[in-house]
Amino acid sequence: MAKQNIEIVCDKIYWSYANLAMAHMAVKKKQDRYSRLNFMIRAKLFKGLKNGTMNMRTIFDDEKIKLETGQICNYCGSNSNLSMDHIFPKKYGGTDNADNLVYACKSCNSSKGKKDLMEWMKDKDHFLPLMIIRRYLKLVHNYCVVNSLMNMKMEELSNMGLPFRIELLPTSFPLPSTLVLSSRK
Ligand SMILES: [Zn+2]
Repeated sequence: MAKQNIEIVCDKIYWSYANLAMAHMAVKKKQDRYSRLNFMIRAKLFKGLKNGTMNMRTIFDDEKIKLETGQICNYCGSNSNLSMDHIFPKKYGGTDNADNLVYACKSCNSSKGKKDLMEWMKDKDHFLPLMIIRRYLKLVHNYCVVNSLMNMKMEELSNMGLPFRIELLPTSFPLPSTLVLSSRK
């Protein structure tokens, strides 16, 4: 399936999610590279998400990497100079709900600045831990479901002033050996 020309919001979200799930599994199994089986599972996930036989919760067991599991920077794993970071910025409607809040160290905070998380990741040219990308993706998904954006065209979202950059959701991931699941060392 050629996914270069994703036009519909739900396709972008599901394809990103299926790829994230594939990367997650490969990292967990300590694979060096992606296998044919990985690609088959990815296709199955995408199909299942599209036709509604799967949802984003069935893909991942909840690993409960949440605020209470330790006060470390969710981006780099540091445990000094922590403060709360809003994944979706407050000024764009990001909430104070736990889903939208993570610990971040001063250095990551100032490096990220006012950038969107995916924008920051792109600028850094280095993949963030998969768990934080997953959280971002879930927030995007929830937002799009609640606001009936799932069946809109990607370009229709570009001028809506949304608290996320859907076009920057990753749909391909680097080799699993270069990825980490969480910032916990
Ligand atoms: Zn950090």
